[in-house]
Amino acid sequence: MSLRKRKERESSSSCSSTSLHPQKKASIEPDLDSRRAAVRAWGNQSLAAADPDISEIMEKEKQRQFKGIELIASENFVCKAVLDALGSHLTNKYSEGLPGARYYIGNQYIDQIEKLCWERALAAFSLDPECWGVNVQPYSCTSANFAVYTALLLPKDRIMGLDSPSGGHVSHGYYTPSGKKVSGASIFFESLAYKVNPHTGYIDYEKLEERALDYRPKILICGGSSYPREWDFARFRQIADKCGAVLMCDMAHISGLVAAKECLSPFDYCDIVTSTTHKSLRGPRGGIIFYRKGRKQRKRGISLCQADEGDQYDFEDRINFSVFPSMQGGPHNNHIAALAIALKQVATPEFKAYIQQVKRNAQALASALLRRKCRLVTGGTDNHLLLWDLRNLGLTGKNFEKVCELCQITVNKTPIFGDNGTISPGGVRIGTPAMTTRGCLEGDFETIAEFLLRAAHIASTVHREHGKLQKDFIKGLQSNWDLADLRSRVEAFSTQFAIPALDV
Ligand SMILES: *Cc1c(COP(=O)(O)O)cnc(C)c1O
Repeated sequence: MSLRKRKERESSSSCSSTSLHPQKKASIEPDLDSRRAAVRAWGNQSLAAADPDISEIMEKEKQRQFKGIELIASENFVCKAVLDALGSHLTNKYSEGLPGARYYIGNQYIDQIEKLCWERALAAFSLDPECWGVNVQPYSCTSANFAVYTALLLPKDRIMGLDSPSGGHVSHGYYTPSGKKVSGASIFFESLAYKVNPHTGYIDYEKLEERALDYRPKILICGGSSYPREWDFARFRQIADKCGAVLMCDMAHISGLVAAKECLSPFDYCDIVTSTTHKSLRGPRGGIIFYRKGRKQRKRGISLCQADEGDQYDFEDRINFSVFPSMQGGPHNNHIAALAIALKQVATPEFKAYIQQVKRNAQALASALLRRKCRLVTGGTDNHLLLWDLRNLGLTGKNFEKVCELCQITVNKTPIFGDNGTISPGGVRIGTPAMTTRGCLEGDFETIAEFLLRAAHIASTVHREHGKLQKDFIKGLQSNWDLADLRSRVEAFSTQFAIPALDV
């Protein structure tokens, strides 16, 4: 039934019931049972019955997820156990504060869940609880990062992170070229970015060091959203030490790889490590903060913490106080339980095998594209994502992304540096974690590479025939036979791979 028809029907039926009501009310007050029943009326309705509108849209979204190829590098699919915890009664409880120190009573079980989540978070990254603490309450990684700044800085203090067009994240500070402050980090603090070398695509550590020594940030941030190579954490440590900065890593994209020991670890060098929990880590949507505690290391850059002298790290109380009460209210306990479940899985050999497959798939995709003379930023990848420079095909990331969307492949446009340092939206970022969760192996990623190349071919043809203006381009895509054909092939491919916990 169409939404409009249903609305009409519902409004007519509700009219008739209200017209009956006044008479009833006038004669007798409803008895206790019916008053109770009135309050409870919708308590046990299914979603479909309680809200057909939302239910119908949710079903469509489920079909979209099932029929498409998900290549957005920051997305993934959670397992049934995580979904069960997310949609649970744990959402009912208020628990502001930390285990053992809550604002409200009745938190004995919530405390157990949050403590278990701490233990598992430290275990998942092989961290010694004497040297590292963790806060699992941030609602997202953006809020986790802001909580760290608020914990350690005063307004207008300086931070330094990778520039957003270079692959950094907006939450590390961002101004538009016209000077508009976009990020809260730039509105409330001062930020200066470092960049990748436009020729190589690798972080320009020399320039970074020079800028950091001039700028003297209080926090130096490593980690980003679109960087296909290893981070030289040791080099960051040296630079942070030289300019007296706290070294923070936002490992949002690579936290699954870090946990599986399939990339260099920021924990060996950094003072504070933040992350999302829903990207390669494959947990529920949220943020997490790890901080060093105990005695300060005398020699930095060594993961042992039994220094023979020096002060204590003072991050723990400051960060915990910043998350609550400074920045957030009650923790989302259903999320924390779901995170604990995901982190238990992260510590298993099966998760390591998953991450190894994520990397193998990224390699398979990269070599399939390179074999067909495609250009990749830095020439390849060390991790779960690659940046495809589309400029030599005469395409923009935006138009290619649109063609992909129309044939049920999701990728995202990304800026690409020209040799002269100019930035154009000339590429797309492609990641393998989500489709690896659905069971894709190297051969499947070769097929995905074929699909992407066909999409690029369609985009080029339509460019040629209809012009590059977005309006003309989109018009040219309508009733394009090749596009319709590719769409059905993509669907036939995707639907071979189940999504965990989704009945379709
Ligand atoms: C995705 C991402 C974030 C933002 O995470 P949210 O949970 O969406 O706020 C922060 N930092 C980096 C490096 C990211 O890639």
